[in-house]
Amino acid sequence: MSKQDFNLSFEFFPPRTEAGKEKLVATRQALAATNPEFYSVTFGAGGSTRDNTLETVIDIQQKGGIDACPHLTCVGATNQEIIELLEQYRAHGIHRLVVLRGDLPSGMVAMGECKYAVDLVELVRDRFADYFSIAVAAYPEVHPDSKNLATDVDFFARKMKAGADLAITQYFYNAEGYFHFIDACQQKQIEPPVIPGIMPIGNFSSLKKFSRQCGAEIPRWIKKSMANYPDDIESQQKLGVEIVTRLCEKLIDNGAPGLHFYTMNQSRLSLQILKNLNLDG
Ligand code: FAD
Repeated sequence: MSKQDFNLSFEFFPPRTEAGKEKLVATRQALAATNPEFYSVTFGAGGSTRDNTLETVIDIQQKGGIDACPHLTCVGATNQEIIELLEQYRAHGIHRLVVLRGDLPSGMVAMGECKYAVDLVELVRDRFADYFSIAVAAYPEVHPDSKNLATDVDFFARKMKAGADLAITQYFYNAEGYFHFIDACQQKQIEPPVIPGIMPIGNFSSLKKFSRQCGAEIPRWIKKSMANYPDDIESQQKLGVEIVTRLCEKLIDNGAPGLHFYTMNQSRLSLQILKNLNLDG
C-alpha cells in the first residue's frame, strides 16, 4: 500500500483556555508534516463542549490543507439542535463527521430524540443526503453495553447500512482482537474501512483509569512491564512508544487501512511512533 492510500488522522479535544488553544495550534502544525486526511475534534455528549468544538473545527477548516471533522453525539440533544449545528458546519465548508451516540455525563438524564448512533446516521443522511462523509465507532473488544461480539457486530452493521462511510475503533493493544472483528464483519458482508484507533501511552496510571471507564483492555504483560517504572513517566513513554509501534506494524502488515491517533492534544508520542513506522512525512 502506498502512503497515499493510507488513511492517517488525529483526534483532539476542544481546548477551553487560551494556553490550550495555542498548544493545539502548535500540535496541529507539528502533525501536519505527516499529511493527515483529517483532524477530528471530540464533542462532549449532552452539548457540554458544543461551542468549543465548533470554534476548534472552524479554525482547523479555515487554515486550509487538512479537513476538520467534528464528532457529533445524540444523547441529550433534540433533532432540531443537531440539525442547526450541522447547518453551521456546512456553512463553514466542513464535510466530515464522526457520528456517535455518546455517554451522558453523570447527573444528566434526558436521552435525546435519537437513541443510538444509527438513528443519528439516518438523521444526517435524511436531512443532508450525501453532503457529509460519515465515520462511526467500532469496538473490536466489544462495546461495554453489549452482551457479545455477534450482537455488537449486528448493531455495527446497521450503522454502516444506514449510510456510514467508514469506522474508527476504540483504542486497543491487542491486534488479534481487531482482526477477529474484521473477520466477523466480513462474514456478514460488511467491509467498510475500519481504521484502528491508536492511543499512545503518555501516563500509564491515567491510561489504566481511562481504560476502565471506556472498556479498553490493557494486557497483563503491558501492565507488568510498566510496573517496572511506577513513577518514571519518561521510561513509561519510551516503553509505550515501542509497544505501540509494534502494534501498528502488526496492524499495517496485516492490512489495516489507516491509523487514527488519540493525541490528547500532544504531538510528540504520535510523531515518534509514526517516525518508527516511516510514516512521519
Ligand atoms: P452506538 O453505536 O449507538 O452503540 C451503543 C451501544 O448500544 C452498543 O453496545 C451497541 O451494540 C448498542 N446498540 C446499538 N444500536 C442498538 C439498538 N438498536 N438496540 C439495542 N442496542 C443497540 N463520546 C463522546 O461523548 N464524544 C466524542 O467525541 C466521542 N468520540 C468517540 C470517538 C471514537 C472513535 C470512539 C470509538 C468513541 C467515541 N466516543 C465519544 C465514545 C462513545 O460515545 C461511546 O463509546 C458510546 O457509549 C457509544 O457510542 P456509539 O456511537 O458507539 O453508540
